Amino acid sequence: MNVAAVLFTRDLRVHDNPALSASARAAEHVVPMFVHDPSLPAGEARRRFLAGCLADLASALQRRGGDLVELHGDPVHEAIRVAKAVGAAGIAVAADVSGYARSRERRLAAACSAERIAFRTFPGVTVVPPGSLRPGGGGSHYKVFTPFHRAWQAASWRDLCEAPRRISLPADLPKSWFRSHSGDGAAGESAARERLSAWLTHLQVYPQMHDDLAADRTSRLSPYLHFGCLSPRELAARVDGRPGAEPLLRQLCWRDFYHQVLFAFPQLRRRAYRPGVEDSWRDERDALEAWRSGHTGVPIVDAGMRQLLAEGWMHNRARLITASYLTKHLGVDWRAGGDHFFDLLLDGDVANNYGNWQWVAGTGNDTRPYRRFNPLRQAERFDPEGEYVRRYVPELADIPGKAVHEPWKLPPSARRRYPAPLALDVR
Ligand SMILES: Cc1cc2nc3c(=O)[nH]c(=O)nc-3n(C[C@H](O)[C@H](O)[C@H](O)COP(=O)(O)OP(=O)(O)OC[C@H]3O[C@@H](n4cnc5c(N)ncnc54)[C@H](O)[C@@H]3O)c2cc1C
Repeated sequence: MNVAAVLFTRDLRVHDNPALSASARAAEHVVPMFVHDPSLPAGEARRRFLAGCLADLASALQRRGGDLVELHGDPVHEAIRVAKAVGAAGIAVAADVSGYARSRERRLAAACSAERIAFRTFPGVTVVPPGSLRPGGGGSHYKVFTPFHRAWQAASWRDLCEAPRRISLPADLPKSWFRSHSGDGAAGESAARERLSAWLTHLQVYPQMHDDLAADRTSRLSPYLHFGCLSPRELAARVDGRPGAEPLLRQLCWRDFYHQVLFAFPQLRRRAYRPGVEDSWRDERDALEAWRSGHTGVPIVDAGMRQLLAEGWMHNRARLITASYLTKHLGVDWRAGGDHFFDLLLDGDVANNYGNWQWVAGTGNDTRPYRRFNPLRQAERFDPEGEYVRRYVPELADIPGKAVHEPWKLPPSARRRYPAPLALDVR
């Protein structure tokens, strides 16, 4: 093949990128491209992060002799336009799982076939491709995590792909196809790889520390995994066999699990996954607003919500506590909570976000749908010194030790600055 096009979506990397590697092997010239799609709106922080990822990807491609074509519009229309203009024999893309991504793939396949351009999808968004593991008895996907985890551990994982050494663009591509970048240096593949190398030294304490809110010892790789700056398959390979790897691999398996759920149930973002489940909620606008802004009067909940507002990220344990408080204590719809998270999280991801929200709300994959997290007990267990709360709720910064978790015991001076709890059944 003389020319091949690669459409990047959320696989923004050159290492272990099967679509890019296969195209670079098969064709003399490769045209890597990214299309900004106006029908995929993102919050400001995620847009900035994406710009950083693209800047880093463009320079990784330039170092190999190539570059990144960057266009705006409908990805199918633009990809076909570019492929025809350069005479590409094929377009390669990473297979993705959401309803939107799959319909984009179908449209692209049809458009390629009409133009006699070869179309191929490649793995890379998950460790194990969604749909490749199926339960005995003929189901389309695993509905429960534990058997999926067992099958995932026993599965053979694909080989890693080396980053191409050289990328050669066809001659005379229009200048208007390329952008000059000044992206966020904390985003992108280089930052992801540095973060991973630095964090691997903490892997051995991950089993004991990953739930400790104040210690903040999880990898914080989720935004990089979401945008594909880091291959989950490579991450699994880098940690596998090291002390502390098991629980981290388990979290990556949860990620794969929700991806195969979304693959099989594209309505995950809007419809209760569990058939016949109670899915009616209170219309509590003031409570929802107080929750969103971190003013519920329950310190551990407010700390989590304010971490989200300040950093575009929240510790997993705090995500569980805040989501459970909204749905199980305040009785507010998981969709409202999920949408707020999705707007603000740098790692906002349809599969992981709505899969986890439904799990917490009891409409999803939890085998104990009626469980609820007691925020006070969670706070005492996972923030025993109250350090996490004091870090994010400045009104309570002078309350010592774990007393900071008990709103009804706060001194009058703190009560004047901090609201009374919305739901009192948290003791
Ligand atoms: C209500 C709720 C909403 C969530 N929304 C998202 C979201 O939009 N995007 C997102 O990536 N994660 C989401 N999670 C999962 C989890 O909270 C984050 O992945 C994790 O906190 C990211 O931090 P980390 O990279 O330091 O995780 P680590 O503990 O270092 O884990 C490594 C990786 O494993 C994956 N992972 C970890 N926990 C989970 C999990 N429970 N489910 C799926 N994958 C997991 C992530 O990709 C993560 O980066 C949500 C969890 C809850 C309870």
